[in-house]
Amino acid sequence: MDRAPAEPTIDDVDRAMMERCIALALRAADLGEYPYAAVICRHGKVVCEAINTVRHDRDVSHHAEVVAISEGLRRLNRASLEDCTIYANAEPCALCCCARPTSAVLCLACPRHSQADSRAGTFLQIPSCRTGT
Ligand SMILES: [Zn+2]
Repeated sequence: MDRAPAEPTIDDVDRAMMERCIALALRAADLGEYPYAAVICRHGKVVCEAINTVRHDRDVSHHAEVVAISEGLRRLNRASLEDCTIYANAEPCALCCCARPTSAVLCLACPRHSQADSRAGTFLQIPSCRTGT
């Protein structure tokens, strides 16, 4: 008998980061940007956060995840986010998949349409876009 895969657990940090990400995405929309945001978290603390700045910067590569990853690497002064979690409010596009260090875990905070009482939304963990592992 097939069983559905277990739902990932959501702890208080995950919930707080997802809600923060959604709030940032709404702020991006208020600023006239595309409504996307990303938050990078390490050991329960925010490393950095970013919104999509494609329109403001007139740069098609300034997706929220790409901006956050660049800032996170700069702030941590290293070339890997292997012990970090990236929270985003949408599934990553091809550009963001390529920009994301393969070992960082991506968590999505997407609006949930199937359950009216969910504030944080769907929670998915995508360890790696490139390898699917
Ligand atoms: Zn993207």
